[in-house]
Amino acid sequence: MSAKNSTHILEVKNLSIDFRTDDRTVHAVKNISFSIPKGKTVALVGESGSGKSVTSLAVMRLIPQPPGKIASGEILWEGRDLLKISENEMCKVRGDRISMIFQEPMSSLNPVFTIGDQIAESLMLHRKMKQKEAKEKAIELLEQVRMPFPKERVNFYPHQMSGGQRQRAMIAMAIACNPDLLICDEPTTALDVTIQKEILNLLASLQKQSDMSLLFITHDLGVVADIADEVIVMYKGDIVERGTTQQIFSNPQHPYTKGLLACRPLLEKNPVRLPVLSDFMTESGEERKEALIRTATTKMALPDTSASETLVRIENLKTSFPNQFGFFGQAKSWTHAVNDVTLSIKRGKTLGLVGESGC
Ligand code: ADP
Ligand code: MG
Repeated sequence: MSAKNSTHILEVKNLSIDFRTDDRTVHAVKNISFSIPKGKTVALVGESGSGKSVTSLAVMRLIPQPPGKIASGEILWEGRDLLKISENEMCKVRGDRISMIFQEPMSSLNPVFTIGDQIAESLMLHRKMKQKEAKEKAIELLEQVRMPFPKERVNFYPHQMSGGQRQRAMIAMAIACNPDLLICDEPTTALDVTIQKEILNLLASLQKQSDMSLLFITHDLGVVADIADEVIVMYKGDIVERGTTQQIFSNPQHPYTKGLLACRPLLEKNPVRLPVLSDFMTESGEERKEALIRTATTKMALPDTSASETLVRIENLKTSFPNQFGFFGQAKSWTHAVNDVTLSIKRGKTLGLVGESGC
């Protein structure tokens, strides 16, 4: 990975980042170097606290200083060191050429603005679009990230959407200006497995369509197998291993990488894999007759709640939200969010309500 290789769009050299706390200094990132090839996906993998987010925040120049301090290094982008350019110049890079999506969309979306306004903001700033044009482009972007009912949802506030839909809105914001590099910091960790897969597929297809480079950060080595070209493994602020995805999965060298892989089902010929929803249900929601996977069912001692007094009872609850409106403001189509639900909550007991995001 040499500096002369022009197919790399970003090059991080000898980067060290410290955090000073009251009584000590944490060396969060220790003299790491790596580069990101144009149009490729690089996965930055490591357990929580290994320095992944701090590395990506440094690329965006968003490390809070103090308590943080860039102790050494360069972040080269088109021949310039991002750590040295003016804040004004950095603003032109951030959100336009390099953009980022975060783990928890609710903390990075603004609750008082509609998602359309938030997507339009960067188009008005970087592309000098007028409000109307930016809003139209926002609808197009929502279509591109496969948001259902984009024309209506563009006017929704973040709290009106499910976790998966919010993450789609975040992705629409991040790709609004066609960035050359998209940094995704654990973009699917807060989502259910079934939604995770959809978001990963979406990111992979957007990356291919626009020849964007992707820096994909995760603590879960398993999720990168299908999407990454290269894998970089971090441990306690160091890069302990790197290679093509094929190399890392088929022949891991470092014990920590082997450990990360062992936490996941192995990619063998006859894999013993964790069951997923589609093993049990067809796409139309029918139960599968044929067993796609054998799962051990354990008999558990369940608490007996039959004698407890009912505190709240919900009977045949139906809740719908309008999606589209006709000319006179009457609803044309509806999302049936809750369809005939009956349940009771008993005094002093805990009711578990389980289901994937958006169900
Ligand atoms: P992760 O790999 O989970 O993304 P981080 O990059 O967030 O890990 O954190 C790496 C190290 O830097 C951790 O030890 C963390 O405690 C420390 N760190 C990160 N941000 C701060 C901060 N604002 N103040 C103090 N320490 C921090
Ligand atoms: Mg992190």
